[in-house]
Amino acid sequence: MKDDYQVRVEMEFSAGHRLLGHNGKCIHPHGHNYKVEIFMASHALNSVGFVVDFSELKQKVSSWIDANWDHAFLLNSKDGELLEALRGVKEQFIYLFDGVNPSAEVMAREIYRKTEELCGIEPAAVRMWESSTQYAEYRSAS
Ligand SMILES: [Zn+2]
Repeated sequence: MKDDYQVRVEMEFSAGHRLLGHNGKCIHPHGHNYKVEIFMASHALNSVGFVVDFSELKQKVSSWIDANWDHAFLLNSKDGELLEALRGVKEQFIYLFDGVNPSAEVMAREIYRKTEELCGIEPAAVRMWESSTQYAEYRSAS
C-alpha cells in the first residue's frame, strides 16, 4: 500500500477586477474578498516529516500576493478604457493579466505557477474562492 499525504494552506486578500466581455454584472468594476487554497500532495515525507514546510510556503506566496494583488486592481491588459481611467488615479495599484480576464480560474492558474516558481514544488491543486459559495480550481493535467 502506498502512502498518500495531502496538506493545504489558506490565504486571504482583497482585490478589484472586472471581466471584459461578460454578459452580466461582472462587466462592472467591482471587488472580492478572495480566499486561496494551495494543496500539496506527496507519497513520501521529507526528513522532518513534512510534505512541505507550511510556514515557508505560506510566507513566500503571501509575500507575493501582498506585493502584487492585495488591494490592487486586477486587469486584463486589453481593458484599455479602465486601465486609462485607473492610471489617472495617483494611488492606483494595478496588476495586469496578459490578454486574459482576471477570472477566478485564471487567478488560480497564476497562483499555481507562482507557487511552483517560488517554492520549487508543483501544487496538487489551487482553489480560488471568489465568495464563500464559489471557487475555481486549477490543477496541471499530466
Ligand atoms: Zn468578480
